[in-house]
Amino acid sequence: MTCREFADFMMDYLSGELPEESRAPFERHLSRCANCHEYLAQYKHTIEAGRLAFTNPEEEVPADVPEDLVKAVLAARK
Ligand SMILES: [Zn+2]
Repeated sequence: MTCREFADFMMDYLSGELPEESRAPFERHLSRCANCHEYLAQYKHTIEAGRLAFTNPEEEVPADVPEDLVKAVLAARK
């Protein structure tokens, strides 16, 4: 397997969709090629960073809080 093939297979490998017959050559190249080992580590890091960028804004925007606060105040006055 060449480094270029390795890069092509990387996404399938990380998503668990790499066919069994491609997995052994992929992992053999990974264990022998320092460049691809580093490349895979950085790729994983990038995916993780992208995932955090997607989830954090949703958690940090308290869209319902003001309305809930109004309801709570109204309920307390009944
Ligand atoms: Zn390589």
